[in-house]
Amino acid sequence: MLHFPRLMSPAAAALVAVAIISAATFASAQSAKSGSPAVDHQIVDPQIAAALRQISAQRIQANIEKLVSFGTRLTISAQDPAAIAAGKGVGAAREWIKSEFERYSKDCGGCLEVKTDSFTEEPTERIPKATQITNVYAVLKGVDPANAKRIVLVTGHYDSRNSDTFDVNGDAPGANDDGSGTAVSLECARVLSKLKFPATIIFLTVAGEEQGLNGSSHFAKMAKTEGWDLQAVLNNDIVGGDKSAEQDHSVVRVFSEGVPAAATEQDLRRIRGLGGESDSGSRQVARYIADVGRAYDTGVKPVLVFRLDRYLRGGDHYSFNQQGFSAVRFTEYREDFHHQHQNVRTENGIEYGDTLKFVDFDYVAHVAGLNAATLASLAAAPGPPANVHLLTKDLENDSTLTWEASPGGLATEYEVLWRGTSSPEWEHVQKFGSVTRATLKLSKDNVIFAVRAVDGAGHCSLPVVPVPER
Ligand SMILES: [Zn+2]
Repeated sequence: MLHFPRLMSPAAAALVAVAIISAATFASAQSAKSGSPAVDHQIVDPQIAAALRQISAQRIQANIEKLVSFGTRLTISAQDPAAIAAGKGVGAAREWIKSEFERYSKDCGGCLEVKTDSFTEEPTERIPKATQITNVYAVLKGVDPANAKRIVLVTGHYDSRNSDTFDVNGDAPGANDDGSGTAVSLECARVLSKLKFPATIIFLTVAGEEQGLNGSSHFAKMAKTEGWDLQAVLNNDIVGGDKSAEQDHSVVRVFSEGVPAAATEQDLRRIRGLGGESDSGSRQVARYIADVGRAYDTGVKPVLVFRLDRYLRGGDHYSFNQQGFSAVRFTEYREDFHHQHQNVRTENGIEYGDTLKFVDFDYVAHVAGLNAATLASLAAAPGPPANVHLLTKDLENDSTLTWEASPGGLATEYEVLWRGTSSPEWEHVQKFGSVTRATLKLSKDNVIFAVRAVDGAGHCSLPVVPVPER
């Protein structure tokens, strides 16, 4: 209950009003911050738990210090050979990130494929002349050919800015925004590259975020054009745990869109008709993170915020949402705006600038742990069941769901989840063995259902909400 008063926004107050009617709903609302289980079902995989123990706050600190040492990482700053040799500007940062991924790959016998996605952005509002933008990423290819096509991805943006979006020379340390998120991608790559997963994990760092999400937009379009089976994107942006007085270092916010940005007219009609506003793929990823956060002790608990992003602000996950991918954003609980997008200076006793001294490296390590646990759990799990349907031909009070077997052959059983229509998280689970059809003594009018696949060890897939079958 310690944190509960903070949740008393109008939206939360509405939740509490509902909770008076339903004790189950109340328990679930509380679980967002207290850590008590909604559906306590994500297993703790000892190999994943061991990998999480390898996450190092010292190494994260060294990486963020290195990123800050480039002076500025503004997307339109220098990237010519002389600047790279001098260790200044966005080009030098890019080369260092690449070398770091390559070093991790060397340590795992070449298990990572280190790649760049480089393109020329034509002049736009914040890009005065045609500029080369380069995303750097490492691919940990799944070891099971039947599952390697499934991809989960973690990203952060390595570009930075100060008060002036066009200042190519002035310092823009970007220790928190987004040295912290870049460090999360790097550290996840380092520790998870020591394990093998059936599905593929991509560790991405993008540029261009501050100029208009250019890097992530290009990357997400590439994934869409090439038909990637990209199942979850975790965007970390401002996860430094700024050491302001009112910071809460025990939690991290996870933002997720409700109605998908890529929804078609037909999708929207179904969402309106069935009350599907809180069941986007991104929201299922957010709920999965909450579940992982209860299973693994990473030192930080996710607080789900049912909103695309912070009020009227944006980030790289949106680029993926626009292409129809499920993507969420991690951000520290309380931002300090003196330390974002500011020239480094002191005015009237207030310190401005995104410098190292305000970053809590232990906090970044905890957030990295939550990301790594989520990526690993998803990459170890079976693919979600396909074509999940809820039969509606006959008017009846029982509910029958059908689905196609999880592709890839890892699933040994299936589970049906459900929750009250006003509940934020899955509340109930029922096992149904290795079948593709289940009937529950519950009215489809009163609850929201989903089906997930589970393997022999207990790894759970993302849940899939059914579409009606007439
Ligand atoms: Zn940012």
